[in-house]
Order: sequence, then structure tokens, then C-alpha cells
Amino acid sequence: MNVKNIKSFIDFYKSLEISTCIAPLPRSFDQKERNAKKLKTSSKVKYQNNKDEKLKELIEEIKDCECDLKDVATNTVFSDGLNNSKIMLIGEAPEADEDKLGKPFVGQAGKLLDKMFSYINLSREKNFYITNLVFWRPPGNRIPNKQEILTCLPLTKRHISIINPKLLILLGNVASQAILSSNEEINVLRKKENYFIDKDLDLKIPVKAIFHPAYLLRNPIKKKKMWSDLLDIDELISTNNII
Ligand code: URA
Repeated sequence: MNVKNIKSFIDFYKSLEISTCIAPLPRSFDQKERNAKKLKTSSKVKYQNNKDEKLKELIEEIKDCECDLKDVATNTVFSDGLNNSKIMLIGEAPEADEDKLGKPFVGQAGKLLDKMFSYINLSREKNFYITNLVFWRPPGNRIPNKQEILTCLPLTKRHISIINPKLLILLGNVASQAILSSNEEINVLRKKENYFIDKDLDLKIPVKAIFHPAYLLRNPIKKKKMWSDLLDIDELISTNNII
């Protein structure tokens, strides 16, 4: 539009007694906002691609690591759920079903876990990511020994730093004690405010430690306590705007 046209345009508006600005925002501001939005979306995409890459590298490292369990397991069990979730769950080690399918928590304990978390609207399809402290099934489902835990722990810590969740939920004694570097029992840890702190990885993530679902299958009487832990998790999520 040339100057003459702009003048006649303004005159036309004046003749209609319109004196206020038609556009809610100056065009330049609008454009700036649009550009900022574009930048945010593209950095989100880059961040996600980067995360996928790092997870692929981690899987390769896990497959190459020296852990005796690897030789007797059928599959490496890595993770399930959405890797951009704000909530990450960590169990102990795969059992027979997980070893067979190469996915964590697909057996009886996994079914109970999915059911419990559905009560507070959490699911691996929608909003959490799940893995184990140890990536291979210990023979006969025994507890992983100290050496096996020590081998897997640095990889699990890297796994946490890549996912970078806003809330970490640790399932049972073994995962809770290893990741929190604590000797306290789950009975005590579940009542405490815990953080996963790793200075090298520059991380401080709130942690909720809860009973392992396999323990609940063996001790159904503890389900009442689990219900109270689930309500705590639900409250933590809403007060901290986690999802
Ligand atoms: N128990 C675990 O700790 N992890 C699984 O994947 C299955 C059972």
C-alpha cells in the first residue's frame, strides 16, 4: 500500500468514527511471538532427537557391559513407556516374563503395577517411563548381588539423567537402597522426603520410594499402605505441576 492509499484508508476509518487500533497487538510483536514459538518447538524437537540418540547409545553400552547376568539371560530388558515423561519408575530386575519378552514389568507384578497406577491416572502409554536397576534376569529371580548392582548402577544413573524426570518412583528395597545410596529399609524410606542427588551429573530429583508390586503380591496386607503412598504421589504431582 503506498502513502496516498494509507491516507485514504485512514480517512475512510475516520469517516466511520473509528479511532482505535484494529489489531489487538502491533504486527511486529505478533511476529516476534510467532518466531519465539517456532524456536521453542524446534528446540523441543532437537531436545527429543538428542534424547533418542543418547538412549540408543546407552543401550549399546549396556549390551557391551561386563555383567555376568548377561550370559544367562535371554534378553536385555531396557525400558517401556514414553521417554519424554516427567515421571520415571525404577524396579529391581527382570523376571521370567520380562526376560522372555525383553520388556520390563510385563508379568504378574507388572499387571498389578499398571492397575495401581491407573487409580491415579498414570500409565506407561500416557505419562510414565519404566525401567529396572539391573538389565538382565538373575537366575531363579534371586536378588541381584552387590557386584551386579555395582556394574549396572552407573548405567542406570545415566539413564535417569537422560530421561531427566521431575519425579522418580523407586520400587522396593533393592532399587531404593542402591539409587539413594542408603541402608535404610523401604518401610523407612517410603515415609521420607528423598532426593536422587548426583553431583557429577548435576542432578537433584525428588524421589518417592514405595513397596515393590511383587512384594505386595506376596503380602497383600500391605496394599493399604500402598494406597496411601499412591495418594502421596498424586498430591506430589498436582502440587508441583508435574503433569
Ligand atoms: N520385577 C521387577 O523389578 N522388574 C520387572 O521388570 C519385573 C518384575
